[in-house]
Amino acid sequence: YYLKKARPSLRIVLIEREFAGFGASGRNGGWLSGGFGWSREKYLKNSTRQGVTAMQKAMAGCVDEVIRVATEEGIDADIRRVDNLTVATNPA
Ligand SMILES: Cc1cc2nc3c(=O)[nH]c(=O)nc-3n(C[C@H](O)[C@H](O)[C@H](O)COP(=O)(O)OP(=O)(O)OC[C@H]3O[C@@H](n4cnc5c(N)ncnc54)[C@H](O)[C@@H]3O)c2cc1C
Repeated sequence: YYLKKARPSLRIVLIEREFAGFGASGRNGGWLSGGFGWSREKYLKNSTRQGVTAMQKAMAGCVDEVIRVATEEGIDADIRRVDNLTVATNPA
């Protein structure tokens, strides 16, 4: 999508081994969140602090970005924005 936006003349071919939607994309829960179960320290081992921070910022902006693209492209994705509250229930 972004490659085509950047250079519309590009001819892009998707190659799928099974059938469209075979992978996780075809069976996920449809939960859209900027959260990611990851270890910043692990990513830092092969990257820079700047790189890890940039990734985190991109993740944090992904919900807005998906909504923006869906709106701009007229995609009815049945998006309903809700809040999310995370609480710690023990010291760990
Ligand atoms: C049960 C479940 C629930 C989930 N729920 C959520 C959720 O609520 N929210 C969320 O954000 N994420 C969720 N996820 C994670 C999310 O679905 C995946 O991270 C995402 O779909 C991955 O997309 P992808 O395009 O990288 O890979 P995929 O969607 O897995 O696509 C990869 C495709 O590549 C094909 N392929 C593999 N090898 C080859 C080859 N050699 N040649 C050609 N094609 C090949 C596969 O057949 C597959 O179709 C969930 C995942 C699962 C399994």
